[in-house]
Amino acid sequence: MYNLQVHIDSNSGFCFGVIYAIQMAEDILDERGYLYCLGDIVHNDEEVERLTRRGLRIIDHAMYRELRNEHVLIRAHGEPPATYQLALENNLNLIDASCPVVLKLQNRIKTSYDKKEPIYIYGKHGHAEVVGLLGQTSNEAVVFENMEELLQKELPQNITLYSQTTKSTSNFYKIKDLLIAKGHTVDANDTICRQVSNRDKDLRKFAAQFHKIVFVSGTKSSNGKVLYQVCKDTNPNTYFISKVEELKSNMFQPNDSVGICGATSTPMWLMENVRDALLKY
Ligand code: SF4
Repeated sequence: MYNLQVHIDSNSGFCFGVIYAIQMAEDILDERGYLYCLGDIVHNDEEVERLTRRGLRIIDHAMYRELRNEHVLIRAHGEPPATYQLALENNLNLIDASCPVVLKLQNRIKTSYDKKEPIYIYGKHGHAEVVGLLGQTSNEAVVFENMEELLQKELPQNITLYSQTTKSTSNFYKIKDLLIAKGHTVDANDTICRQVSNRDKDLRKFAAQFHKIVFVSGTKSSNGKVLYQVCKDTNPNTYFISKVEELKSNMFQPNDSVGICGATSTPMWLMENVRDALLKY
């Protein structure tokens, strides 16, 4: 027996945007037995599988274009205006679970676009949220993933800077400072979700308390990557896993204290399963 001391971070688990989307999906599934969802409802394969078993049908945009007279859930990441337009044309009933934080950001970007500001979005190319943000600008805003990519572009004197909600706060401010140092006038809008940036600080404290950290997240989760790195920087003995089967006994020593934490898309039930498996070591 390893006699591990295992604790789950009480601040980890779904953010309110994801809780809201899943609650909406479950309510409709109880009522109708099935529901289409445009894209993975959450970037966590285990949770997607659980909901698929309950009748959730994940579709991509090509399948969405073919649908008629159905109910379709819009997940927390939000969608561009074209998705709503198509719903009108094809008599689709949209269950809109776009996160209020994302909707607010979409509105801010739309306002900047209407004022003809040069919009630069710090975000991941092709990420669903970013596609929704770009859609507010008729795809005219510039998206960049990191400083190197931004500096390869010819930049205007004035820059209106936004961020995808799940990017790293410290990188956002580094980008802002660098642009100012290069002589640009920057209207920097820190639009990183507090559910992500506050976890950053809390996780540092949490990760420092244990011999080992098991970070549980889907590989597609953006904030999962950011928050895993926060843990790893604080505690080098941090392991990333997506499911219980990825735990290995050689990660641990007898009597280790182990902290379990995760992304805003990691279900609490999954972290509890990880804890139960560790307690059997
Ligand atoms: S991380 Fe923030 S913006 Fe994204 S879904 Fe959760 S609450 Fe909404």
